[in-house]
Amino acid sequence: MPLFERMHEYGHEQVVFCYEPSVGLRAIIAIHDTTLGPALGGVRMWTYPSEAEALEDVLRLSRAMTYKAAVAGLNLGGGKAVIIGDPQTQKSEALFRAFGRFVQALGGRYITAEDVGTTVADMEWIRMETRYVTGVLGGSGDPSPFTAHGVYYGMKACAKVVFGSDSLARRVIAVQGAGNVARHLVEYLVRDGAHVYVSDLYPEKAEQLCADTGATPVGVEEIYDVPCDIFSPNALGGVLNEETIPRLRCRIVAGAANNQLADEQADAQRLHERGILYAPDYVINAGGLMNVAAELEGRYDPQRVLAKAAGIYETLLRVFRTAQERNILPTEAAARIAEERIAAVRALRQLSSGVQYHAS
Ligand code: NAD
Repeated sequence: MPLFERMHEYGHEQVVFCYEPSVGLRAIIAIHDTTLGPALGGVRMWTYPSEAEALEDVLRLSRAMTYKAAVAGLNLGGGKAVIIGDPQTQKSEALFRAFGRFVQALGGRYITAEDVGTTVADMEWIRMETRYVTGVLGGSGDPSPFTAHGVYYGMKACAKVVFGSDSLARRVIAVQGAGNVARHLVEYLVRDGAHVYVSDLYPEKAEQLCADTGATPVGVEEIYDVPCDIFSPNALGGVLNEETIPRLRCRIVAGAANNQLADEQADAQRLHERGILYAPDYVINAGGLMNVAAELEGRYDPQRVLAKAAGIYETLLRVFRTAQERNILPTEAAARIAEERIAAVRALRQLSSGVQYHAS
């Protein structure tokens, strides 16, 4: 599909192709929607097999950022960038500084951050050329405790809807992944008296987390078959698909992983047909974005961020209520809430903010 048609279909404002052959930079910055504020989203470095795939990825990811910020109630738009290249072998100071200059040229319409294939050290290079970068040293730091806090409250909201009580005591919870988010999440769950099972691609990571918290390790494949109340994906995307959904023995899916559904529509429908309540990933995992947003506002207070992340409880209840009232899936309800907020704020722009007086 021609690019402008694709931009029209997705609703993008601007796509910037950044090229600096002297340092091997080939990057694309996609600004999806800046109605609510500057477009924020990480820069991903990846060995894309083709330019078309890099473009598709950046268009999809930037649009998702718009929805995520909008539902979270943040004054941020959606953006994303991709650098085409091997993060193991093709990184250099000059490459990231060149990227930083392109970001700077956008004058703050796009704010970049770490993502898959990039690190805090890369952000420091970008910062040499632009102030429109977050997640740098001395900034808001590791977002995972805030993400976990939001997921924990999101799980409680799901339990309230499905079981009538938001207590997680004695609930059986299967946690996929024993990484940064999962570690904090499992601590909350065990503290509440839940029975927690944990798997990781690296079994020793799951075993260590279980030894530290009192959870129970299970195999990487076995996790899908654990009879439980809540299945919580906290590893990679695409784990909910045609093959895994029929195996799940839970009532709720609620976790931090991005892009959990392999096929956004079909898999949301499959979960619904199995009677499983799905907490849309970008709604429940917004705690990390809230943390970065607080850094950008310039008055960073971790306690305020934790309180805001706990608000994911109410946001999810609203998503489920909207889904029920309109007879749509929770994923569709989340999208409608995001779109309606953006439309409402866009309408505000028509209001005059004061008398315009021009002296002659
Ligand atoms: P992480 O890299 O620290 O942890 C991921 C863990 O998953 C690793 O231990 C890895 O070995 C494991 N893993 C990979 N494949 C697996 C599989 N098939 N089965 C079981 N375990 C597997 O990452 P993280 O920061 O904890 O993030 C977890 C997920 O949440 C990711 O999808 C991330 O994109 C998403 N997320 C994270 C944040 C955040 O604040 N860190 C915010 C929003 C979303």
